[in-house]
Amino acid sequence: MLIDSYERVVDYLRVSVTERCNFRCQYCMPEKPFSWVPKENLLSFEDLFEFMKIAIDEGVKKIRITGGEPLLREDLDKFIKMISDYAPDIDLAMTSNAFLLKETAQKLKDAGLKRINVSIDSLKPEIAQKIAQKDVLKKVLEGVEEALKIGLKVKVNMVPMKGMNADEIIDVLEYSKERGMTVRFIEYMENQYASKEISGMKSPELLALLREHYEFEDEGFDGASPSHYYRMKDGYRFGVIEPYADDFCKKCNRIRLTAEGNLIPCLYFDESMSIAESIRKGDIKAAAEVLREVVRTKPEKNRWCEDEGEVSSRAFYETGG
Ligand code: SAM
Ligand code: SF4
Repeated sequence: MLIDSYERVVDYLRVSVTERCNFRCQYCMPEKPFSWVPKENLLSFEDLFEFMKIAIDEGVKKIRITGGEPLLREDLDKFIKMISDYAPDIDLAMTSNAFLLKETAQKLKDAGLKRINVSIDSLKPEIAQKIAQKDVLKKVLEGVEEALKIGLKVKVNMVPMKGMNADEIIDVLEYSKERGMTVRFIEYMENQYASKEISGMKSPELLALLREHYEFEDEGFDGASPSHYYRMKDGYRFGVIEPYADDFCKKCNRIRLTAEGNLIPCLYFDESMSIAESIRKGDIKAAAEVLREVVRTKPEKNRWCEDEGEVSSRAFYETGG
């Protein structure tokens, strides 16, 4: 079992399989990066899988595939199958913008993918286009319908931004609710790559707006989930991801791996350690030691909650958000 120095069990690994993306979301990657990581620096799926095995053997129970846009990486289904065959009981999920989901959902499910979180920031084509800087909505919604049709569990992520999509919070909640999908509103996290015009919406303001429309009870955190959950009178549950809240990190069980093999103990800070060399050499012991060290050095909490310091210079599309 992997336990950090604050007695938190670390059993959730988020793996970014590519930093590339087919969207240019205003809050994440508004401009194409000056350069992409050269292809030869990316870990192959075989190498990534070698590390997945180590992580699973050390106690990881949940793996989320993310990016950039994970569906841009070729043969993703084969990687999913490798993990699923090795550990059929693992909670294997993916976060995607859903643009390529319609044509890939069945293959991913057959390979062993159990759940998917999709980002839907707007249900208005022109606003979705403004946020992603591309005409995306039709394909995204088709992707979601397909995933639901074939029986994948789907959650929706929305980043509410004032003057942009904040007036659609109720619409996105209703859209999700009608389809049996939990929606999670993510507080916009400031970072140096995001467009400067963004004005995020913090949890108290968001909840006040929701209270004008619904009655709901605070259910707190669900295990180690990053989401704070609220239950409406009819039983529907929605979540708010509040990285700025003081208790956000209390039960954090997550570490992150980039496509280049950098293992990151916390999204907020720059620190990371590479497993690339040991994995490429087949040195399982050394890679496992890096994993334990990264868990040992996991910080107690991020500094958004303290309103000071600088967030990591690593982009969210590299760490997988
Ligand atoms: N491309 C996929 C997607 O958009 O779902 C996966 C990668 S994306 C980095 C993962 C999640 O991070 C998405 O739900 C996205 O909305 C969220 N995200 C990215 N930048 C963010 C920011 N600055 N603040 C809050 N959430 C952000
Ligand atoms: Fe791409 Fe996801 Fe970032 Fe949007 S949030 S630019 S879809 S990685």
